[in-house]
Amino acid sequence: MSKRDYYEILGVQKSATEEELKKAYRRLAMKHHPDRNPGDKAAEEAFKEAKQAYETLSDPAKRRLYDQHGHAAFEGGMGGRGGAGPGFADVGDIFGDIFGDIFGGGRGRSQPRRGADLRYVMELDLEEAVFGVERQIVIPTLVGCQTCDGSGSEDGKVETCGTCRGQGRVRMQQGIFSVQQACPHCSGTGKVVSKPCKTCRGQGRMESEKTLAVKVPAGVDNGDRIRLGGEGAAGPAGAPPGDLYVEISVREHDIFQRDGDDLYCEVPIRFSQAALGAELHVPTLDGEAVMRIPAETQTGRMFRLRGKGVKSVRSHAPGDLMCKVVVETPVKLTKRQREILEEFEASFEGTGQEHSPRASSWLDGVKSFWERMTT
Ligand SMILES: [Zn+2]
Ligand SMILES: [Zn+2]
Repeated sequence: MSKRDYYEILGVQKSATEEELKKAYRRLAMKHHPDRNPGDKAAEEAFKEAKQAYETLSDPAKRRLYDQHGHAAFEGGMGGRGGAGPGFADVGDIFGDIFGDIFGGGRGRSQPRRGADLRYVMELDLEEAVFGVERQIVIPTLVGCQTCDGSGSEDGKVETCGTCRGQGRVRMQQGIFSVQQACPHCSGTGKVVSKPCKTCRGQGRMESEKTLAVKVPAGVDNGDRIRLGGEGAAGPAGAPPGDLYVEISVREHDIFQRDGDDLYCEVPIRFSQAALGAELHVPTLDGEAVMRIPAETQTGRMFRLRGKGVKSVRSHAPGDLMCKVVVETPVKLTKRQREILEEFEASFEGTGQEHSPRASSWLDGVKSFWERMTT
């Protein structure tokens, strides 16, 4: 922290009146306030410097010490707690202080805090996510106490807290600096009740469960969140409630995988179907579809069924269903089937590789590999 002269920092004469000090500080604080200079380290330092200068000079006793001894008056553990040196206040403290001192209340003070936001993970089947669903959910939550209408007071009387005079924050002295803290007497609400409500023990809210009907729109996907405004936890002492976020988690499907708007599935076929071509009945999310595969289809080939995918909440048209055909080796052959296949296999004798495109390119690869190895 700099050791510039406090009067110089504030830009005032040594004879400045309290009013002049305050005016100078106000001007500097407005100029360098972190709110107006986000991310500007120099402004933050200037702000802290002005604050430190003002805090010292605005206190007559400290000002006298400073006038006599300069900065030395405040060095070497002036009864302050360890670490309570210049610049220890974090930005949060600075914010509380400046709004308290200069703008006379407001942020972070008597305003009751909002209740907490809640998150609920809703598990859905793929069909439910795609077509939408209405679900009842039961969530644990804090609700406003019915008995006292959220005031926490049995007789309805709410008084201003004497400790903080309703401000919700109190100043604590740490060395030569004062910091603001939430009032320990009223827990920062600024209000106290002499006769606490018995139902909620003066809290104004209670642990409870509530049942909500949640309408899940068609097309939601993993991680999508539905915000239910005001359905979160009740705020303390009648403050507004938070929000509830319903997060979607889609269970794995037996045959479909979803990727954005598209669906993927595997369709097993026999090699005779692959060789001759076939008409296949494939499942889609809204019934069966017919898919034609041409003769000489290789395993792993992907076929696209347009518009049979998913229409997500963000898209205008549905995606596609991608079907990957997988050639399956037939099992449990009958004697007759074996005979046919043996005959079929024998028919390849002396034909070379012309019927096997993959095998021939594989064999070519093997051949050139050996050539490279042996030359
Ligand atoms: Zn109550
Ligand atoms: Zn208080």
